[in-house]
Amino acid sequence: MGVGRFEGRVAFVTGAGSGIGEAAALRFAAEGAAVACADVNAGGAERVAAEIAEHGGRSLAIGLDVTDERAFAAALEEAARELGGLDVVFNNAGIGGRGYSWEATIAVNLTGVYYGCFYGCAKLAELGGGAVVNTASVAGLNGLVGPPLPGAERSPVLPGAGAYTAAKHGVVGLTRQFAIIYGPRGVRVNAVAPGYIVTPMTAEIRGVEGADAFLRGLHPMGRLGRPEEVAAAVAFLASDDASFVTGAVLPVDGGYDAR
Ligand code: NAD
Repeated sequence: MGVGRFEGRVAFVTGAGSGIGEAAALRFAAEGAAVACADVNAGGAERVAAEIAEHGGRSLAIGLDVTDERAFAAALEEAARELGGLDVVFNNAGIGGRGYSWEATIAVNLTGVYYGCFYGCAKLAELGGGAVVNTASVAGLNGLVGPPLPGAERSPVLPGAGAYTAAKHGVVGLTRQFAIIYGPRGVRVNAVAPGYIVTPMTAEIRGVEGADAFLRGLHPMGRLGRPEEVAAAVAFLASDDASFVTGAVLPVDGGYDAR
């Protein structure tokens, strides 16, 4: 399973304190990377960094709001300085679900990824090359449909879906654009597009009556994904196994996008 692909390398992960980011941070560490765990929830970042250290890995916890441009640039510098380099940037932090405004969703899910691409690619190129992976979504390739919500016979869309879908389509655009800009400078830029994954982000929607069967039915494999299954694809795209892959958007979705 490619143990050691990140030996001697440094990975920077946003949203590392939970869900897909946590699984990716642990996966990078298991394959030998020193990992900078960045999250606006500093406690979550510290917990995951401590878990890596407990297993003998090198890690760094960074409290970071990805919407803070200066802080993002500084966090990348800190990681490179403290961990002795930078090889991988995983722009994964995101918000979704009921109650998030257009402004907040675009700020975190799109602007935050832009900063990660802008400063991440520049730093990786400065240090001789590397790989960026962004977390898009099936909502970066198609519009979303929702499960039956209380009070509605059948809601055609999820609350907040417009902003989420627009942001994730934007992440696909950023992925392609930065792949073109940085192709000649040794930085590959790819994205994963997960289907519904069992993480805290989807807890509320999964809790809606009738949602389970509806959500499973969206995926031809008949189930939701696990964060570790997304992390495996992220690790592939970030590794030398994907040495000729750039500008790609890889669905990790149990066939959701195949329909
Ligand atoms: P999660 O809620 O478990 O984890 C998200 C993490 O991002 C949290 O630790 C949170 O504190 C952090 N975060 C939120 N805002 C931040 C900010 N401004 N700065 C830094 N960190 C911030 O969710 P998850 O399911 O692991 O989601 C990770 C990514 O995967 C998101 O971009 C999400 O849109 C995307 N995604 C999730 C699913 C799914 O079904 N869970 C599907 C497709 C895409």
